[in-house]
Amino acid sequence: MKIAFLGLGHMGAPMALNLHRAGHQVAAFDLSVEACARLAAEGVAIAASASAAAQGAEAVISMLPASQHVEALYLGHGEGGLLQQLPSGTLVIDCSTIAAASARKVAQAAAARQLPFLDAPVSGGTAGAAAGTLTFMVGGEAADLERATPVLKAMGQNIFHAGAHGAGQAAKICNNMLLGILMIGTSEALALGVANGLDPKVLSEIMRRSSGGNWALEKYNPMPGVMDNAPASKNYAGGFGTDLMLKDLGLAQENATAVRAATPLGGLARSLYAAHSLAGSGALDFSSVIRLLQSR
Ligand code: NAD
Repeated sequence: MKIAFLGLGHMGAPMALNLHRAGHQVAAFDLSVEACARLAAEGVAIAASASAAAQGAEAVISMLPASQHVEALYLGHGEGGLLQQLPSGTLVIDCSTIAAASARKVAQAAAARQLPFLDAPVSGGTAGAAAGTLTFMVGGEAADLERATPVLKAMGQNIFHAGAHGAGQAAKICNNMLLGILMIGTSEALALGVANGLDPKVLSEIMRRSSGGNWALEKYNPMPGVMDNAPASKNYAGGFGTDLMLKDLGLAQENATAVRAATPLGGLARSLYAAHSLAGSGALDFSSVIRLLQSR
């Protein structure tokens, strides 16, 4: 398939590379010249702009930071959004994590131009993006998802149809709210153990195989030195930034307000990541939140 890929950051670059390696004809673009240069070095064609990348594309995929970037790209500021330039029938897939309401707004504008739109946020982190094992949570029409499936399969392993437009984003914030909460809980338990003189590796293994077992203990231990490949053992570089987690928890709280849901731990988790970010850790991986809970 001829694909325009927009947004070549931590997630977008490896996703675009996997599409290229799977034999799709990819034209990629990012506002950052450095991000474009890194992908060009891997042999992926770089376009001069988002519109240039989309010329002749059968599908447009975006992987941008937040709602405002996605709305600016597709809708423009009043006029001139990318949707205006795409021929009808072009499949538009947004993989960014954004507000469900924003996804529905873009979907509506796309429908007005006969452009099939899917919100398809992902889980699995940068490692999953590189390995092509992401989970996609998709909102939109089943027939459009069927059309998108070969493309999504080149980047991920599990593809779920969550429901109508916006449902992918709703599923994503539920998952990330749980992740944000469980990372703090896991950090709290490990910090308590260490304060009691326990070896964090031994304690992690005990909890991993006990009723406290969870994804952080399995794959993403927040304590430095427990897992060689986790961001914690690389000074919390790479991975999933505290500010991105903060964004997702903010989306979860906004959404909870809109649908009148009770999310007390989600709210507390958002406040803790906000304090962590304000203390200067916004760019560090979110598992660095353990630093709030440990004497250093
Ligand atoms: P990132 O900040 O590394 O990358 C975003 C890229 O988008 C940047 O390179 C930026 O220059 C580019 N960009 C912004 N506006 C643009 C535009 N109009 N046209 C072209 N490029 C533009 O972010 P990331 O970590 O790759 O995350 C992207 C999305 O995926 C976010 O919504 C995030 O919440 C979500 N996500 C991230 C992870 C993770 O582990 N990093 C995991 C799951 C989901």
